[in-house]
Amino acid sequence: MPATHTAEVPRDLHARLVRALGEHDVLTDPELTASYETDWTRRFRGRACAVVRPRSTEQVAEVLRACAASRVPVVPQGGNTGLVGGSVPRDGELVLSTTGLAAECVVDPATGEAIVGAGVTLARLQQAARAAGFDFGVDIAPRESCTIGGMVATNAGGVHVLRHGMMAEQVIGLEAVLADGTTVGRLPALRKDNAGYHLAALLAGSEGTLGVITRAHLRLTPALPARAVALLAVDGAEAAVELVRRTRGTLASLSALEIAFGECVELVVERLGLPAPFASTPPAAVLIECAGRTSPLDELVAAVTACDDLLRGSAVADDEAGVRRLWRYREAISEAINAAGVPHKLDVAVPLAAVPRFVADVRAQVAALAPHAQALIFGHLGDGNLHVNVLGLGPEDDAVDRAVLRLAADAGGTIAAEHGIGVAKVGELELVRSAGELAAMRAAKRALDPHGILNPGVLFAS
Ligand code: FAD
Repeated sequence: MPATHTAEVPRDLHARLVRALGEHDVLTDPELTASYETDWTRRFRGRACAVVRPRSTEQVAEVLRACAASRVPVVPQGGNTGLVGGSVPRDGELVLSTTGLAAECVVDPATGEAIVGAGVTLARLQQAARAAGFDFGVDIAPRESCTIGGMVATNAGGVHVLRHGMMAEQVIGLEAVLADGTTVGRLPALRKDNAGYHLAALLAGSEGTLGVITRAHLRLTPALPARAVALLAVDGAEAAVELVRRTRGTLASLSALEIAFGECVELVVERLGLPAPFASTPPAAVLIECAGRTSPLDELVAAVTACDDLLRGSAVADDEAGVRRLWRYREAISEAINAAGVPHKLDVAVPLAAVPRFVADVRAQVAALAPHAQALIFGHLGDGNLHVNVLGLGPEDDAVDRAVLRLAADAGGTIAAEHGIGVAKVGELELVRSAGELAAMRAAKRALDPHGILNPGVLFAS
């Protein structure tokens, strides 16, 4: 989405923002705003009229009051690692970066909970939790950049959902600022508090369209520092699903069940210069991780041995370096794809049993609609969550996108498993949401943001 025109912040709004935040945190110089205007994939970009970096909830509230008064639309942005184009401006909006809301990161060892500013990165929270003998339930690859606010706003998933659930399930309470500048949510929150609508639940996954999350009260998980990982070569999706069926119930320490199809393994090896994990590239590789207080290696090896008839090769590790090395074949896929081109990223989920048919149908559709394009498929197999990445398409060329999303919906799945709708999938919600559900969502949006200033164009086209 190329920028179409030069945006300018209205003079009186600019003066009010500078009064509230200071010159240093109101950016209009294109050299300074550039990195806030392009998304991680480089597929989505647009000009911002300004970028502001509030450092407190009160400053966020003043920014929103000022923008509401001037009717200037606002794009909330955290670490800008989102993959559906929702964190960057489209047409001269003001970018509200939450990275300045990072002063607070307090772990309470007595409750196993933490209160953190929305701009705190996942890596920082993990570090603080681990120092206190805990961990955080959600883990995703861009942990050094993605923020807690962005993770709540997208309801991030990641590799441990089958054990700990998604981001919304870690949230005890939120503080947020609504479009008119009203601050809602009381922290610390309570684990049990059924006094009316659960606004935190509504904000989780709202993609910056209902409010700006400023602080979060989160539950932590017990630390499980001993890990064992197996990378298993299999003949394809059928064998991978059978592997899941056989191991899921038997592995009490199971913490991740991931898949990378052969083309992804090959690309990671080629682009990142890693040694090939198997003598020849298998049609698919399944990664199983177990985690416990003591090494779960024996349990993992026993489960893998029982699946010997499904395997073409295997590599197992329980030392830190070995575990990290095996994870690279799965975690580095997005990085390798980005190094190869500008991908269309389609994050879908289908029922586990439907995975093999879905994968075959996707490959057939891509070959038919865009013979020059390459489909790369990987994801969180244990959740039926596949990331279909397509290289070789133009930014606006969405025939393949629409076909893949329809296949997911037809298979009883969803068009947005964990990345959200953003601008990438606007117009496709009808595939998986009824007219009644869409009307309820629009009513919530109108009630909380009557002038439509929060992230316009995300979730709904207008
Ligand atoms: P941003 O990208 O800045 O914003 C994302 C959305 O949230 C935007 O709509 C934005 O407007 C809104 N937003 C941001 N902050 C706030 C706030 N404080 N209040 C209100 N709205 C806000 N995601 C997964 O779920 N699972 C994965 O396994 C995963 N793997 C990834 C791997 C790679 C290599 C990359 C680059 C991304 C991956 N992602 C994954 C996607 C991304 O990291 C997540 O969506 C993450 O939650 C985004 O956080 P962020 O701080 O970067 O948010």
